[in-house]
Amino acid sequence: MSGTSEGPRPPAVAASGTVRPPVTERHGADRAAAESVARTAAGPRDYRGVFQAAHLAMAVLDHQGAVISANDALAELLGTEPARLFDRTAADLVDLASDIRTWHAYREVLEGRRSRLRCTRRLKHPDGRTLWAEVNLSPVPESRSVLLSIADISDRRELQARLRHLQMHDPVTRLPNRTLFFERLTSALEASPYNGGGPFGKGRPYGGESGPLGEAGPRGHDGRSYGHGGTGRIGLCYLDLDGFKAVNDTLGHRTGDRLLAAVATRLTECADQDGYTRSGGHLVARLGGDEFAILVEDSTGTEQLADLARSVLTALQLPFDLAGQRLSVSASIGVVERAVAGTTPTGLMQAADTTLYWAKADGKARWTLFDPERNAHRMTRQALTSALRPAIEDDEFVLQYQPLVGMADGVVRGVEALVRWNHPQFGTLSPNRFIGIAEEDGSIVQLGRWVLHTACRQARQWQRDHPGARPLFVSVNVAVRQVWDSDLVSDVAEILAETGLAPQLLQLELTESAVMGSAGRPLQALQALSDMGVRIAIDDFGTGYSNLAYLSRLPVSVLKLDGSFVRGFRYDDGVHPSPADETIVEALVQLAHRLGLTVTAECVETSGQAARLQRIGCDTGQGWLFSRPVAPERIAEMIAATPPPS
Ligand code: C2E
Ligand code: MG
Ligand code: MG
Repeated sequence: MSGTSEGPRPPAVAASGTVRPPVTERHGADRAAAESVARTAAGPRDYRGVFQAAHLAMAVLDHQGAVISANDALAELLGTEPARLFDRTAADLVDLASDIRTWHAYREVLEGRRSRLRCTRRLKHPDGRTLWAEVNLSPVPESRSVLLSIADISDRRELQARLRHLQMHDPVTRLPNRTLFFERLTSALEASPYNGGGPFGKGRPYGGESGPLGEAGPRGHDGRSYGHGGTGRIGLCYLDLDGFKAVNDTLGHRTGDRLLAAVATRLTECADQDGYTRSGGHLVARLGGDEFAILVEDSTGTEQLADLARSVLTALQLPFDLAGQRLSVSASIGVVERAVAGTTPTGLMQAADTTLYWAKADGKARWTLFDPERNAHRMTRQALTSALRPAIEDDEFVLQYQPLVGMADGVVRGVEALVRWNHPQFGTLSPNRFIGIAEEDGSIVQLGRWVLHTACRQARQWQRDHPGARPLFVSVNVAVRQVWDSDLVSDVAEILAETGLAPQLLQLELTESAVMGSAGRPLQALQALSDMGVRIAIDDFGTGYSNLAYLSRLPVSVLKLDGSFVRGFRYDDGVHPSPADETIVEALVQLAHRLGLTVTAECVETSGQAARLQRIGCDTGQGWLFSRPVAPERIAEMIAATPPPS
C-alpha cells in the first residue's frame, strides 16, 4: 500500500491521463496488497473472473479510496487501460470532491460509517464526448475495501431529456407549451429574492440532479441565471388571435396549424429582438388553441411590454403566405407588468386573462394594459352577479315610482315603477348597475316577475286606499329576456288575477330592440297582452333603429321619447336649442299620432322644455320637473292632494 495514514487520500492532484505504471508491472508491497484485497473482494478465482468479465464498470478501492483492482468495463468506460487506473482515487476518477456533501459521504463510506453513496456525474471521455454516469460506492463486507461501480446512463438521460422536451413543447409550433410556461413562470417568481427565494432557494429551476450535487446549479436549462441583479419586475403579453376559429372552420385544421406555426415564428422573432436589445431572451409559449404568451423576466417597466406588444401587432399585420394561400390575422393582447414581490402565477395569469378580455371587448386587434381600477369594477360586477339571485329571495329590492303627467293639465295619470337594490355592502344601487348583469345571467326573469307583482299590487292598493280618485296606471319595464325566456303572458294574467288590478291600468315598457324584428313567440306574446287590455309602450324611443311605420303594425300604443331628444330643448341654462332637433321631434310626434300612438317625453327637467313639448303635442311627460322617482307613500300623498275628476 502506498499510504500509511488513516483516512482517505485527498483527491489526486495528477491530471487525468498521467501515466502510472500498470498494475502488472508493479512490485512489492503495493502489488501484494492489491492482490490480497482483490482476492478478498472477489473470493475464489472464479469470482475474480466474474469481476473482470462483468459488463458493469467496477473497481475495488482501499480504505483511502485508491483503486486496487479495476475491471475492463471500467477502463473502457473511462477510456483508458485497466492498469492505468491503479492507485488513482475514486474522488479523482469521478469527481467526488467538487462538493462538500458528497466528499463527506465518500469519506464516511471509506471509513465504514456509511453503507452507500450514490450520485450522478457528468464525465468527460477522452474521445471528447460527455457521458452521464451513475456512481455507486459501498463497503465490501468483512473487509476494509470498498466497491465502486459506475453505470453509463447517458442513453437513459438522453431519452429522459427527449421525453421531457416532448412533454414540454407543442408539436404544431414547436414552442414551449403550457406546462413549461408555468414551470418557468413559477420558478421566475419563486426564485426571485424579492419573493423570499433566491438563486439557491427553493425555486431552483428544473433540470437539477437527484444526487448530492445538482449539475444544473442555480441555472435554468437555457443557461440563464435567475435572481442575480434582476429588476424585480415581470411582464407578460397574453395573446389570442382574432377570428382564428373561422380560419379553422373554413380552411381546415391543416391551414389552421400552418397559420399557428407561422404566427409562432413571428412572435419568436419579436421576442428575440426585444430580448437581444434588453436583458435576455423571453419565453414564447403556446398556451393552447390560438393563445400565446410572451414572458418577460426582469422587465424594465410597462414601456418595454407596450413596445413588445406593439411590435407583435405590427409583425402580425403582414399577411401570411401559407402554401399558396394568403391569410391575414390580427390578435388581441392583454399586457400585465408588475413587481415580482407579492405576485403569484395565478394572480398574474388572472390579470392577464382579464386584460385580454378587455382588449377583445374594446374591439380586438389591439393591446390593452392591465388597469387595477377597471379590475376593481369587474370585481364588484362579479360580487353583484353572485349576490343577485339570493338578493331576490332575501327581499333586497324595492320599487320607487315616478309620475307620468298629462302635459295639457299637469295631472298625474300613471307612474313608472323603477327598481332599486338595497345592497347590504354597496348601499342603494341604481338599475343601471345590475339590470344588465341580471339579463346576462337570466335572473332578470325572476326579478322581473317580482317587479311586476309588486307594482301591480301597489297600484291596486292605491286604488283601494283612494276610492274617489282617478286610478293611476302603473308602467313596468320588461327586459328582452323576459319576453323570450319566460311565459310573460301567463305571468301577467296570473298577477292581474291575483292582485285584482284591471289590465287597462298596466303598461309594459319594452325597448326597441325587444320588439324589433319580433316574429313568432314575442309577437304572439305582445298580441296576447294587448288583447288582454294591457298597454305596450316602446321605451327610450329614438335610440335604436326602429321604423315608426313598422312599430305601428305591432300591438304598441305608446312611444316614450328618449331623454336625449328632450335635452336638445334646454332653454334656460344658456345652451341654445337646436331648431333641427325640434323639427325632428315635432315631425315624430305628428307621425306617431297619425299612426294612433300616444307620446310620452322622458327626462323633462325644466318648464321651458315642458312648454315646448306641450306645444309640439306630446301627451305625457316624465321627469324631475314633475317629480323624481319616489317611495309609494309619496305617490299616495300626491293622489290624496289631487282634486277628484269632475
Ligand atoms: P328608463 O325606463 O328609461 O327609466 C327612466 C330613467 O330615467 C330612470 O332611471 C329615471 O330615474 C331617470 N329619470 C327620470 N326623470 C329624469 C330626469 O328628469 N332627468 C334625468 N337625467 N333622468 C331622469 P333609473 O331609475 O336609474 O332607471 C334606469 C333604467 O333602468 C330604466 O330606464 C330602465 O331601463 C331600467 N329599469 C329600471 N327598473 C327596471 C325594472 O324593474 N326592470 C327592467 N327590466 N329595467 C328597469
Ligand atoms: Mg322605462
Ligand atoms: Mg326610458
